[in-house]
Amino acid sequence: MTSQCFFDLVHPDDLGKLENQLLAHLDIETPFKSQFRLRRTDGVYVWLSSTGRVIKDKFGRPVRFLGAMTDITEQKRSADKIRQLAYHDPLTGLANRRMMTERLKAHIRDKSEQPLALMLMDLNRFKFVNDTYGHDVGDALLLHVSKQLNQVVRKNDLIARFGGDEFLLMCDVETSGQALELASRILRAVEKPFCVGDNEFNTQGSLGIAFYPFDAVSAEELVKKADIAMYRAKRSKSRKAALYDTQLERESQQLLSVEQKLRRVLANDKLEVWYQSIHDQESGAVTGLEALARWQDEDGEYVSPQLFIGVAEESGLIVKLSEIVLTKVCEDLADKRIDSALSVSINISSSLLSRPHFAIEFVQKIFSYDLSPAQFTVEITESIALNDFEQCLRALNALKAAGVRISLDDFGTGYSSLSMLKQLPLDEVKIDRSFIRDLGSDLAHNALVESVITMAHAFGYDVVAEGVECEKQYARLKEMNCDMYQGYWFAKPKPLSVVKTKRLSHAV
Ligand SMILES: [Mg+2]
Repeated sequence: MTSQCFFDLVHPDDLGKLENQLLAHLDIETPFKSQFRLRRTDGVYVWLSSTGRVIKDKFGRPVRFLGAMTDITEQKRSADKIRQLAYHDPLTGLANRRMMTERLKAHIRDKSEQPLALMLMDLNRFKFVNDTYGHDVGDALLLHVSKQLNQVVRKNDLIARFGGDEFLLMCDVETSGQALELASRILRAVEKPFCVGDNEFNTQGSLGIAFYPFDAVSAEELVKKADIAMYRAKRSKSRKAALYDTQLERESQQLLSVEQKLRRVLANDKLEVWYQSIHDQESGAVTGLEALARWQDEDGEYVSPQLFIGVAEESGLIVKLSEIVLTKVCEDLADKRIDSALSVSINISSSLLSRPHFAIEFVQKIFSYDLSPAQFTVEITESIALNDFEQCLRALNALKAAGVRISLDDFGTGYSSLSMLKQLPLDEVKIDRSFIRDLGSDLAHNALVESVITMAHAFGYDVVAEGVECEKQYARLKEMNCDMYQGYWFAKPKPLSVVKTKRLSHAV
C-alpha cells in the first residue's frame, strides 16, 4: 500500500492528528504511538492502535516504516459505553448529575466572565402518576419530558436529569428576561399531553432559575439557589418560572422549618382537631361543625393553618394529616362527644381526592366506627380543576353514592366554571370570606353575592357564607336567603371541649 493510499483510508477526523504525530516522529525522533480510525474494504471504520519507528538511510532520509497495528475497536466501544454510563442517565439518555456538575465547574473555571442561567424543574404530578399507574407510565412520562426539553432548548444548552423527576438545564442566556422567556417555552412544552396505550396524561413543571455569577459563583450554590426558586414557583401555583432572590431564601428556610416541625407533630400524634360551628338561617342554631387541623409550636403558639396547610400539601404530609383528622373526628362522633344529628365537615385536598381508592378508604373508615356516611360532609376546593379532574369526579360520585355530603369550599376564589359547577355532585357551596368581608358597602359587590346565592339555589345546592364577622353581614346575607353561616360572629374554631356540639344549641 502506498502512503497516499494509506492516508486516504484514515478517518478524516483523525487525519490531522496522525500526520502531526508522524511529522514529530520524523523531526525529533520521538517514539511513534497513535490511535486512529482506518476504513476497511467493506467501508467500515475500525480503531487501530499503532506503534513503530522510521528507518532512515545513511543520509538520514526516511526510507521505510517498521511497526505494528492492533485492532482496538472493541476496547474503544467498551470505553465509550463506560463513559456513556458514567455521564448519562440510562433512561432518558440525557446528561446526569455528574456531567452537569463537571460542566458547570468547567464553565466557572474557564469562562468566568460569561453569565449563564441554571434552571431546575420538577414535575408536579410525577409521584401521583408513578404511584397510580406504575413505573412504566412514570418512565414514559420522563421520556416524554426529556424529548420535549430537547426540542425547546438551544444547541449550547445542556439538559440533565438530576434524579427522580428533577431536570437541570444550563442555559446560555445573559438576562433574566431571556431566561424567563426560555423557561416559559420549556413549561409550555412540558405541558403537552402524551399517551400511553389508550390513556392520555398531562403534566406540569415547576421551574426555578438562578444566575451565574449574580446569585452564586459555585456549582453547588447555584443548584441550591435554583432549588429555592423552584420551590417558590411551586408554591405560587401561577405556572410561571421563578427567579431566585434573597427574600426567597428566607421564606424557603421558614417553610422548611415548618415542614420539619409538622413531620414531628404528625409522628408524635400531637395534631389537634378543632371545630368551628356552622349555623342555620332561622334561629342561628348549630347545624354542623367543620373539623380543622391545629398544632402548637414548641413555644406554645398555634401555627397559622394558612402556613402549614400549604406546606403539608407540597410535602405530601397532607395524606397523613387528613387521615389523622378523619380518625379523630370518627372517635369524637363514636364516643358521642358530638351530637349525631350534626354534620361534620372535613377538608379534603384535591391531591388526596385524586388518589386511587380514596373514596372507598374514607367510607370504610367511617363504617369501622359504626358511623353513617350521612354524618359527614367532604369539603373540596376549586383546585380539583387543576388536578386529575376525572379521577376526582369519580371519587366524589362514589362518596355521594355512599351518602357523604359534598361541599365546594372557598367558592369564587378559584377556577370553577359553570359547567364544572354543574358536573360536580354537590350538596352545598361555601362562599369565600373575601366576598363576605366587603358586603354592605359596595352595591355591585352585594349584587354579585346575591347572584351567586341565586345560581347555587338554581342548581339545588345549599349556600354557606364563610367569614361572617358582624351582625350587619349576617342580616344582609339573611335578606339574600343564604342558608347557613360560619364565622367569628357566631363562633371561632375551638377545641371540642368548648364547642357547642348539640344540634339545638343556640348561637352565641
Ligand atoms: Mg373549609
